[in-house]
Amino acid sequence: MPRKPLASLLLAVALFAVGCGAADEQASDARDDGDTTATPTTVADVATEESSDDVAEDTSEDTSDGADDSAADEQEPTDSTDPASVDNTTTSVVPATTTPTELDGQIGAESVDDPYFPDIGNGGYDVTHYDLDLTVDIAGVDAIQAVATIDLDTIVDLDRFSFDFTGLSVSAADVDGEPAQFEQTDNKLRLTPATTLAAGTPHIVTIEYAGTPTTVDSGTRIGQIGWYDQQVASVAIGEPYGARTWYPVNDHPTDKATYSIRLNVPEPSVGVSNGVLVSRETFADRTITTWEMRQPMASYLATVSVGDFVIIDADGSGDTEVVDAFPSRLEGIAAGDFDQTDEMLDVFTDLFGPYPFDEYGVMVIDASFGFALETQGRSIFSAGLVDGDGSIERIVAHELAHQWFGNSVSPATWQDIWLNEGFASYAEDLWLEFGRGTELAELEARLVTRALAAQAPAPEDPGAAGLFDPSVYRRGGITLHALRLQVGDDVFFDILRQWNLRFGGGVASTANFVSLSEELSGQELDDFFDAWLGDGALPDLPN
Ligand SMILES: [Zn+2]
Repeated sequence: MPRKPLASLLLAVALFAVGCGAADEQASDARDDGDTTATPTTVADVATEESSDDVAEDTSEDTSDGADDSAADEQEPTDSTDPASVDNTTTSVVPATTTPTELDGQIGAESVDDPYFPDIGNGGYDVTHYDLDLTVDIAGVDAIQAVATIDLDTIVDLDRFSFDFTGLSVSAADVDGEPAQFEQTDNKLRLTPATTLAAGTPHIVTIEYAGTPTTVDSGTRIGQIGWYDQQVASVAIGEPYGARTWYPVNDHPTDKATYSIRLNVPEPSVGVSNGVLVSRETFADRTITTWEMRQPMASYLATVSVGDFVIIDADGSGDTEVVDAFPSRLEGIAAGDFDQTDEMLDVFTDLFGPYPFDEYGVMVIDASFGFALETQGRSIFSAGLVDGDGSIERIVAHELAHQWFGNSVSPATWQDIWLNEGFASYAEDLWLEFGRGTELAELEARLVTRALAAQAPAPEDPGAAGLFDPSVYRRGGITLHALRLQVGDDVFFDILRQWNLRFGGGVASTANFVSLSEELSGQELDDFFDAWLGDGALPDLPN
């Protein structure tokens, strides 16, 4: 189908040049050491951030909640120079009924005070569930018509509140069945309900919208994020704040919610999303699939893809069901790259605790750029990575490990990104050690070499632009190996399991990790983590 080849090419180049998670690291591996397990086409795996101990401490609470409602409310989200406020669309839908009104209550802080992306989110409510009904047309440029039904609990009295939302036009909105006034800025959809919503009460918001979904600049090495309209397939890439390009959202990890996503797409395409496929119908040349993510999910981990998918129940031997979605043309090849998923699930379940979601699986996007991304319950891989020979083994392990580290336990702020990427990177080595029997000394030598070559920026505070820099992965990863040597295997793996037990389904900070490590080891570790995650020279590994 004809589409914007130039734009696609630019996006592909951007992704290629950068990268987040595993892919990035893998790509670096391939470039740096000629590691044969890495694939040069790999690029992005979305990561989260890492925070310094201090900041993390302050933000470890659920900052999406209520926060400070009044003061920050008044700020215009487009004033900031933060990348989050920069978008390439100018939407302004203001129905005639929208007029400034006296506000008795509050308008919900249009920020959750993320240190890197202060314009993200709204602090006045907590979303519990998103029901997204998308009709997607893919002839020419992608176009969607959608209804979002959002269940939320208010945290403060709300006269007005906002969602993060970019590039699509709202035609109607109501709150609890009553029409609501609405207006759109570049990055926010603001709703004024007919009556004040009292603090601590549940409400249902319905928003009808349509348009051509786009990408936005992430301000990080990833480049563009959001709705990728590719030649053969389309895919939504959220990390760190691209969800706003396809649905109205409180777009910060602190406001997790469950999801039902219904995708109505033209045959022979099939819509694939997070979680369990609960229904599939076909009529009038359309295929309608409904997917449910029943465990809390951060918005950056939500995804949809539309393409010529074959959905395969891999019928794994383990406790976790594995359901993959491959492009039909790659069905026979892709299996060769993912046939170790069951064994990886077994190894990681032993090391980290129970798999945190109903199912796991991957979806391979039929597009030529190379990236992998740990979307919740179903990781994304570019078809460009897939050759059936198992060369992406490390990346496959990395994205799976993110289901525990990043997806179940998500970063309290984007500064905490190393809690995603350092952990998933080290998990690659844990897979090789415990699943493959690779000698620990061999893995350790590689960890040191790679971390020495990518020491800065400091994983504890890489900055918004450095969110996915190699140091976050490599220095973050070797920090965990150093911790293992410092406290011993028994305590170390207990820390990893307790991390998931205590914080799974929510968010956690670097300060939380330091505290847990100190509690379980009985050691004072502030100086240890400062040395390993800070901006000084990389320490020597403990004996
Ligand atoms: Zn990653």
